[in-house]
Amino acid sequence: MRVLLVEPNYKNKYPPMGLMKISTYHKMLGDNVQFVKGFDHSVDKKVWDRIYITTLFTFDFDVDVKTINHYKLLVNSIDDLYVGGIMASLMPEKVIEATGIDRSNILTGLFTDTSVVGDNNNINVDELPLDYDILEQIDYKYPAGDNYFAYTTRGCPNNCPFCAVPILEPYFHETNNIIDQIRTIDEKYGPKRHLLLLDNNVLNTENLESLVDDLCKIGFGRGAKYVDPGAYNIVMMRYRNGDRADFLDKKMAAYLEGLKKRIKSVKMLETFLQIVIGAEDAEDYAQYMLDHDKELSLIVEKYRNKAKKARFLDFNQGIDGRKVNDENMKQLSRLAIRPLRIAFDDIRLKDIYCKAVRTAHRHGIKEISNYILFNYKDKPEDLYERLRINIELNKELGIQIFSFPMKYSPISETDRTYIGINWCKKSVLAISAILQVTKGVVAAGSNFFYKAFGSNLDEYFELLAMPRELIMFRSYFENNGITTKWKALYGKLNGEQKERLMALASLNVSELRKTPWPNDLKDILEFYLIKHSDKTEYSNEKYIQLSLMEDSNIIIED
Ligand code: SF4
Repeated sequence: MRVLLVEPNYKNKYPPMGLMKISTYHKMLGDNVQFVKGFDHSVDKKVWDRIYITTLFTFDFDVDVKTINHYKLLVNSIDDLYVGGIMASLMPEKVIEATGIDRSNILTGLFTDTSVVGDNNNINVDELPLDYDILEQIDYKYPAGDNYFAYTTRGCPNNCPFCAVPILEPYFHETNNIIDQIRTIDEKYGPKRHLLLLDNNVLNTENLESLVDDLCKIGFGRGAKYVDPGAYNIVMMRYRNGDRADFLDKKMAAYLEGLKKRIKSVKMLETFLQIVIGAEDAEDYAQYMLDHDKELSLIVEKYRNKAKKARFLDFNQGIDGRKVNDENMKQLSRLAIRPLRIAFDDIRLKDIYCKAVRTAHRHGIKEISNYILFNYKDKPEDLYERLRINIELNKELGIQIFSFPMKYSPISETDRTYIGINWCKKSVLAISAILQVTKGVVAAGSNFFYKAFGSNLDEYFELLAMPRELIMFRSYFENNGITTKWKALYGKLNGEQKERLMALASLNVSELRKTPWPNDLKDILEFYLIKHSDKTEYSNEKYIQLSLMEDSNIIIED
């Protein structure tokens, strides 16, 4: 069977784990599998026996629909096309309406039963290992890098109304053994450096101690180090396993090319060059390499980089601060965890959150970061307060908590325009402008924080009201005096005028131009039409440097 796997051309951090498992599944059945991202016209001429399309964020709905409508023409029958993933699971009816595919061709939730695609076996696709090889078929590089991606648990028993997990994975359960998952990857693809665990609520497990034991056994205990085996050893292992692929040969050739420069011994270099030159004419490159492994491996072992590097484990979806206690922090502190992400979604959880951070810290976990939901039922000042609390905790505990504010959008919406009940569009845009400079991270240092968000609530609200260009090109407009002029006008406004200003400043520039301006706001509204003329001359250096300096601790982020 010829199987095509498609990920629409949206930007995403993690590789498509669902498709990687489906690839493993079809390869187990002896099928030919190809993976593409977006529209790849090299696959358009074929007719595929089955196509699977994944989906992710609901706000990528239009891209997904375009992709489905394109690929539905490349299967024998529309019934041979399946759409799955998060967006499709959350809004199957909308997908049906926009694409005409049948409800039975939308795979909602986890792919645990292959009868839904008409296959007759007892394979639980969700528990299969990931096929990393499909990623070699596309040019897109996932920001999360070439690491282990796994789950140790699925689901979450909490029903937070803003979260999609209760719909996608309604039952909390443990998955297959993490030792087996990692061992399978090691044996097939070679070891990877970091481990990203995508559990939604790992602290809900009753077997945390044995899970931590297992994670220590597979090399992620506290202080864990990693020595990269190098492409030579990995590709050789794969050749020995019988794997043959162009990308393996290319990886091997590129590695040997790089190694050549490091060989100091004249005799070894001579032998090395002889082998490498001979490889150019080899009919079977892989077999040729295997035949010369004995001589080559001596050279590779002498010159390959054997530096020990720290490796980390990251429960990337965050842990539930309400469940943090001495017992579970004692367990997690046995791991090379970095960072420990604790959700801080609601200011009302302030005491629980602070207690959770202090408990983690007491057990020696010092690399902490958090997700901060905003634009939900919170107020703008709640966001400031949560960020400020982290700055104070940093001072108190001598640590560096990094924050990742996450803008809420309802899971039923297909775009990101939602504005929370206590927010206005201008405030949300101001936060996004501030975060744009630092790629979404609020660094740990107080210098950065008070500069970026204001040193008190008054300054924070002033920043939220400030024209976007003045926020984005902060140093430039501060230095040329424009910001001072704007501040002087803003300072003269009363509360009611500020409210009207925020409503008008929420309009985009063309709407603002068309709208009649009230006399008392005319002067200040002029500032909202200002455009920084030369975007390449980015005049925010000081601000960027400050954030990057303090951001150096972040290891795996967008
Ligand atoms: S605890 Fe986290 S994963 Fe669970 S429902 Fe709430 S937000 Fe979602």
